[in-house]
Amino acid sequence: MPVPIALRLQRIPPYPFEEIAKIKAKKLAQGAKLVDLGIGDPDLPTPPHIVEALCEAAHDPSTHAYDESGFGLPAFREAVAQWYRSRFGVALDPGCEIQSLIGSKEGIAHIFLAYLNPGDYSLVPDPRYMVYSTGTMFAGGSYYQMPLDAQRGYLPDLAAIPPDVARNARLLFLNYPNNPTGAVAPLGFFNEVVEFGHRNNVLVCHDCAYSEVAYDGLRVPSILQAEGAKEVCIEFHSLSKTYNMTGWRVGFAVGNKEAIAALSKVKTNVDSGVFMAVQRAAIAALTGPQDCVKQMQAAYQERRDRLVPGLNALGWQVPKPKATFYVWAPVLGGLASADFAARLLDQGNVLLIPGSLYGSHGEGFVRMSLTIKGPEKTDLIEQALTGIGQVLRGL
Ligand SMILES: *Cc1c(COP(=O)(O)O)cnc(C)c1O
Repeated sequence: MPVPIALRLQRIPPYPFEEIAKIKAKKLAQGAKLVDLGIGDPDLPTPPHIVEALCEAAHDPSTHAYDESGFGLPAFREAVAQWYRSRFGVALDPGCEIQSLIGSKEGIAHIFLAYLNPGDYSLVPDPRYMVYSTGTMFAGGSYYQMPLDAQRGYLPDLAAIPPDVARNARLLFLNYPNNPTGAVAPLGFFNEVVEFGHRNNVLVCHDCAYSEVAYDGLRVPSILQAEGAKEVCIEFHSLSKTYNMTGWRVGFAVGNKEAIAALSKVKTNVDSGVFMAVQRAAIAALTGPQDCVKQMQAAYQERRDRLVPGLNALGWQVPKPKATFYVWAPVLGGLASADFAARLLDQGNVLLIPGSLYGSHGEGFVRMSLTIKGPEKTDLIEQALTGIGQVLRGL
């Protein structure tokens, strides 16, 4: 008999993409030609000057040891501070307001251990990136889901949070530009959130992984631009989406110094930091030429501007996202999102993700990613439109 796994792990549902990966493998084994608009993972390579910086650093034996700083190399934190000041106009103290992360997901998952006692609440969006709720469960906490509705621009209604929940909450998680809806938040909304944090003594955690994936020249704000934000906010950033570096595992947290210290204390007991050669490559990314970021934006924008008008021409009214590489589209034909996605996969050979996997308020939507694995992206978009068109005509 296998050793029973802990309840905290049993309670966590299987990572949803595992199911989809299984269906995909089955279809591929049957010889189907699929267009995969599923997982959001940049298909463009990491820019060469960043790869070069890694190679050079990896040949320097002084990068091979533990990074004993705990917070990340001083030069890495300086590079983050410089990037942050030029991008958002916010000054950060590299001595106490910046923490290196093994990808932002790592920091997001660990912040719950720093702040939740068993029974404490976190406030999380619905739909959402699932780590906010699974991180809560790992820490023995409970989560209250704040609905994100299209009519409110996918911004939560803070006034609708019951007072007793707000009182028992320690953390509030937000994510703009938003996965999965593609929504962006104006600075005015961040001001309201910061005020909520002050009033309820809640640490506001903002996942800003998509800050640079924005279109038509849009520059989205950081929550630290809001008045008084550093007293109650921590913001998570990642090099993954900005520089096509998902596999490299490097990101950072910035903001409230007590929160940075608490996160750091969890991390020093769990991991031993980011490989120093990867930190040096990250410095090259943050301080080097930024045309690669413009190229990344242009590539997704071109795909967005082919896919969305194509869907509209098929009679599917889908809005163009202003940011992120996700298209969030209402389900047609009165089907559940999982059934709609299954039909698109079976009959249209297009893989996309049912909105219900992101929470109950994701029901009624599907998510398409503009990251497309395969040689000819435009051909694949045409192929997807053909497959989707066939399915829609049969509804
Ligand atoms: C991709 C993603 C991240 C995690 O990125 P890392 O590779 O761990 O830095 C965090 N939040 C959201 C919403 C994401 O989609």
